[in-house]
Amino acid sequence: METKDILFELRTKNRLSQDELAEKVFVTRQAVSRWETGETTPNIETLKALSKLYDVSINTLLGSPRQMICHCCGMILDDSTTSKEINGCFNEDYCKWCYNQGDFTLDFWKRYKELGGEDMFQDYKNQLIHEINSLHIEGLPKIDHLNVLSGSFINLEYRLPNGSIIQFLDDDATYLANQMPCEFGGSRCFGIAANMDFLLVCSYEKNGENPELVIFKKR
Ligand SMILES: [Zn+2]
Repeated sequence: METKDILFELRTKNRLSQDELAEKVFVTRQAVSRWETGETTPNIETLKALSKLYDVSINTLLGSPRQMICHCCGMILDDSTTSKEINGCFNEDYCKWCYNQGDFTLDFWKRYKELGGEDMFQDYKNQLIHEINSLHIEGLPKIDHLNVLSGSFINLEYRLPNGSIIQFLDDDATYLANQMPCEFGGSRCFGIAANMDFLLVCSYEKNGENPELVIFKKR
């Protein structure tokens, strides 16, 4: 749908006249009319005001030109899962679980923000991806991204030959992680988890059953 149709639909759905909407977002009634005929589109400040007023993202107002993805965990976003700032504006870069009330929810991510922001974090991620691909593990497809995940989701229990059980991750920590199907087919998957200190590759069956450690390497 085009922006002009979306704006018309949102206004009528919210039972506002052009005059009433104009007053709410500090423009003239003529401006509202021109948006709805497609003559002009609202400027960025007005888009922000409309986004807040209608509780839809700017991406939605513009007819969803881009697929929104959380920069932190990689999930695909829609207006109901996108995070917001304290002032109620959407933050279209993150999901509401990774970012809430103006701050990141994961310690891991906070730390990298402190260290140098998103560029630094991307460099770190790319370095890890390179390190994992350089291991040339048989059956493991080349990886091209990693997501941030809580240790509690991926902390598998491995059984040692002597029968004891061992876990390598910390439930409360966050890791860069991914899951990949085995190139040789079958139901086994590879799991990858890494942080600043080590990287771990394991394989397992559906739902993390019968895990086997492939590699645990200090970085
Ligand atoms: Zn997220």
